[in-house]
Order: sequence, then structure tokens, then C-alpha cells
Amino acid sequence: MAALYRSRHRWKRINWSHVLTRNFTGNYDYDTVVIGGGSGGLACSKEAAQLGQKVAVLDHVEPSLRGTKWGLGGTCVNVGCIPKKLMHQAALLGTAVKDAKKYGWQLPGPISHDWLTMAEAVQNHVRSLNWGHRVQLQDKKVKYLNMRGSVADEHTVKALSKTGKTMTLTAKNIVIATGGRPKIPTDIPGAMEHGITSDDIFWLKESPGKTLVVGASYVALECAGFLTGIGLDTTVMVRSIALRGFDQQIAGLVTDYMESYGTKFAFRCVPKRVDKLPSGALKVTWSDALTGQEHNDTYDTMLWAVGRAPETKALGLDNLGVQLNKETGKIIVGVDESTSVPNIYALGDISQGRPELTPTAVKSGKLLARRLAGHSKELMNYDNVPTTVFTPLEYGCVGLSEEEAEVRHGRDNIEVYHAFYKPLEFTVAERDASQCYIKVICQRDGDQKILGLHFTGPNAGEVTQGFSMGLQCGATYSHLLGTVGIHPTCAEEITKINITKRSGLDATVTGC
Ligand code: FAD
Ligand code: NDP
Repeated sequence: MAALYRSRHRWKRINWSHVLTRNFTGNYDYDTVVIGGGSGGLACSKEAAQLGQKVAVLDHVEPSLRGTKWGLGGTCVNVGCIPKKLMHQAALLGTAVKDAKKYGWQLPGPISHDWLTMAEAVQNHVRSLNWGHRVQLQDKKVKYLNMRGSVADEHTVKALSKTGKTMTLTAKNIVIATGGRPKIPTDIPGAMEHGITSDDIFWLKESPGKTLVVGASYVALECAGFLTGIGLDTTVMVRSIALRGFDQQIAGLVTDYMESYGTKFAFRCVPKRVDKLPSGALKVTWSDALTGQEHNDTYDTMLWAVGRAPETKALGLDNLGVQLNKETGKIIVGVDESTSVPNIYALGDISQGRPELTPTAVKSGKLLARRLAGHSKELMNYDNVPTTVFTPLEYGCVGLSEEEAEVRHGRDNIEVYHAFYKPLEFTVAERDASQCYIKVICQRDGDQKILGLHFTGPNAGEVTQGFSMGLQCGATYSHLLGTVGIHPTCAEEITKINITKRSGLDATVTGC
């Protein structure tokens, strides 16, 4: 492929004399042109400009099927992490208000939630972030173009505005950071016409009402969690298992907690068709793989959370020989984010095999900018990337799941320490803590290097973040035991963990 590319490359040089000239003089419009102004693209362009590079970033948002559109900043800012975490916070506050009575707060009458107030507040915050990014780009002298980019050759980007205006930009290097968009099945009648996705849910002007969420990974469970938390009748339709790729014992605890919290689950079910009734409600028909039967129910909203597809279609990469993964459509990249074509790089959600997370997109973008500017040779380390699922009972983890540790090291060569603990804040509030759990997976011999750490409970992201540095530094079980806890916290339970699964002893934490 590389040879094929190289021969194409030479052919281009013979036929495109202006490209040849630029290559010899280094006389490009920009040092770097970034396509995609999301987490990775903005981080890369700002860092490059900070290092004295001349940079342009193109960002274009194609409205969702329902017509939802948003500003600069990409998925995380507009239709991902930020609005999601704020709506999760809205749901947590609902639980806190219920707890508050037990703590002596005298609340007048029953409480209720107003969607529009929450949505407007969240959207205003998102708009302030859009504005903040624009100002930062201006301050750092990054040329921002609200245009759709495509790659004409390894040094040329074509830009197209909404009004049809075109522009050509030349650059020494091109960085593709165009992310992905939610998928909707094409083979289910009514799915496209009547469903919404995470691109719409945070921008709805009215409460989604009774909602069916299809899918069982991060997006599905997080959205179902906050919808339940603000008082909406919510069902999750799970095709196979919840949270594929995560520790399955803990995935079970997360869904058990959600069920006790009020979220309904339709396990081993898949939708067959969606019909809009004259009342405006959606009649969803599904099949149940366990019973082989068909069922139906009506919902106000159907939210597809069945994964995301990479945004490569409009980029014109086929003609250039940029290699894509045949199954996923994502761009194949090397350890340095290089693609199969010199001078073209890809990072973030668009790149094959990378975690679809904002911090990895941001960090890899910054490191790439430093390497392209000749300031550093440091590569992105994708090992031990921590993450948190912001479900009603949050789940934070770093490193291997128990299943993965068994596959890689063998069941007899790992030691699993675990604990069921009760967060102090649950006690007075009389909240059930059955699913609050910690699991630390270690190598069995030597210093017992920690392979994976899992935590369900309040503030799981905050708890997991610090321990992830330990794993980066090669922490062992001895290090953990040598760490003094902070009392009274949930995180301190990790430093006290001492019951092995192998022992079969009761792992319930008692006393301080
Ligand atoms: P994006 O942020 O998607 O940015 C790509 C940008 O490029 C977009 O603005 C797009 O419109 C634009 N674009 C596309 N094609 C073109 C083109 N041809 N020309 C110009 N512009 C183009 N991650 C976390 O770490 N924590 C979370 O809590 C979290 N929550 C999430 C919740 C939801 C509901 C979703 C959907 C995702 C969540 N993520 C979370 C994932 C995170 O949002 C992504 O991993 C991250 O945004 C990827 O960044 P990126 O730069 O690769 O792409
Ligand atoms: P995922 O690809 O992780 O999961 C897709 C889910 O949809 C799976 O449960 C899958 O089931 C199911 N599914 C796929 N197709 C169908 C179908 N036709 N019918 C029914 N179910 C189906 O996608 P997400 O959109 O949840 O998340 C995308 C990425 O975004 C994540 O990988 C994550 O990195 C990022 N993200 C991060 C968050 C965070 O950090 N807190 C929050 C949200 C997203 P099956 O297992 O059977 O294939």
C-alpha cells in the first residue's frame, strides 16, 4: 500500500507543479491545518500556535437528522461530556433533595423537575464554552474557519462554507480530527424517521417524556440514568450485555442499582419497528430473544444509543490512499498518529483503536502539535487510561477488567481484592449501598503489581483519577497498603482493601 501510495505521490508531483514548488520552498499557507474543531483538533491547533506555528482549524457541524445543530467545540462540549455531566448532576440533586429531608431540611410539598429550566441552563453554559473556544483561538492567533474541510492532497485542504464559498489552504501538515456521529439502524422501519440520538437529547425544548433508550453502553446507560433521575419513565433495551468491555461483575452492579433506582430494563431485546400513532406517541415493537416473542409499548421518545460512526465520508480520503479500517471506517494510525500518507495525521475518535474519550483526544492532540513543531518526540501513552461511567451509581475504573486480567495473565496468576462498603453519606439518608463495591486486581506473585482498579460509588471519577496515577507509576498492592487513607471518605476504602475473592470470605466492610 505504501509503495502504491508512493508511486501515486510521485505521479502527483509530476502533474501538479505547484505542489512540487511548495515542497522545495516550504512555502505553504500554514504549518498545520486541522480539520475538526472538537476536543482533539482544538487542543492540537492551540498547542501548535502556542509553539509559534501558523495554524488554521476548520470546524463544520452537520445538523442531526432532527435538525439539531451547535457551535464550536465538538462532541464533548456540545452533545457529549459537558451537557451529559450537567444533566447527571441535575439527577443527583434530585436524590440529594430526597436525602436532605433525612438530614433535617424542611422541604415544602412534593418536588418536581422542570426540563426547560435545566435544558436552558445547560445550553447557556455550552454556548459560553463555544464562545470561550472562539476567543482562545483568536488570542492564540489560530485562524478559525467555520467550513467543512476535505483533503485534496497531502498538503492541500479544500474548504466549503454553508453558503457554497470555497477556499484552498496549503499546509506542511494536515491533522484530521473529525470525530464521529451517532448511528441509527437503517434496517428498522421507522427508526430514522422517529428516533433521536445523543445529538438531540441535550437540546430538546420539551421534556422527552416516557423514553425508550436502545443500547447498553456508556451513552445509553448515562442518558437513561439522568432521565430516570429527573423523574421520567425510562426503559433501556439491551441487545446482549451491558457495558461490553467493562468488568462484567461491576456492569451488573451498575444495572442492578439503576433498576432499584427506577430504570426499567428489557434484556435480550431488539426493536423491530417504530410507528408513529395519530396521538404523536411512538409505538415500538420488539422481539425478545429469551422468549422468542414479540412485544410492543408506546413511548414519547425513542433514543438510539447504539454506537458512533466515524466522520470520514466528506474528507475525500479514498482518492489519497489514506488507509481506513474496513469494519469501522476509522483511519488507521501509527503510534505517532501518522496515517498511511505522509504529512497527514489523525487523532481522537476518528482514529482506529483509540479510546473514544476527550482526555485522550486532547492529550494526543497536544503531543502531536509538539512533535510537528519539533519541540518534543514524546508519544501518547494509551495504557492505563482511566474512565468513569456517569450512571446514577457512578463507575470509575483504570486498567484491566477481571475477565481481561484472566485472559492475559491466567486465573491462577492474579489476586483479586474486593470490598462491599457503605458510603458514609448513605447511612443517615438510609440509602441502600448493596452495589457500592471496590475491586483491585493484582498480579499474584512478587510485589503484586496492580493490573486493574474498579470503584462504584459517589464521585467515582474523582476517586479514580488519583489512583490512575498510581497505575501509571507501576503501583503494587504493597504501595496501596502503604498508602494512608483520608477519613472519612469512600476512596480510603481502596487503601484498606484486604479480602481476596479466592478466600471466599465476606467482603463487607465493617467499622472504620
Ligand atoms: P469531536 O469532539 O467529535 O470533534 C470533531 C469535530 O469535527 C466536530 O465539531 C465535527 O462537527 C467536526 N467535523 C466533522 N467533519 C468535519 C469536516 N469535514 N470539516 C470540518 N469539521 C468537521 N468522553 C469523556 O472523556 N468523558 C465523558 O464523560 C464523555 N461523555 C460523552 C457523552 C456522550 C453523549 C458522547 C456522545 C460522547 C462522550 N464522550 C465522553 C466522548 C467524547 O465526547 C469524544 O471522545 C470526544 O469529543 C472526541 O473528540 P474528537 O476531537 O475526536 O472529535
Ligand atoms: P458503544 O459502541 O460503546 O456501545 C454501543 C451499544 O449499542 C452496545 O451496548 C451495543 O450492544 C448496542 N447496539 C449496537 N447496535 C445495536 C442495535 N442494532 N440494536 C440494539 N443495540 C445495539 O457506543 P456508545 O454510543 O455508548 O459510546 C460511544 C463511545 O463514546 C464510548 O465508547 C465512549 O468511549 C464514549 N463515551 C464516553 C463516556 C464517558 O467517558 N463517560 C460517556 C459516553 C460516551 P452490543 O454490546 O450487543 O454490541
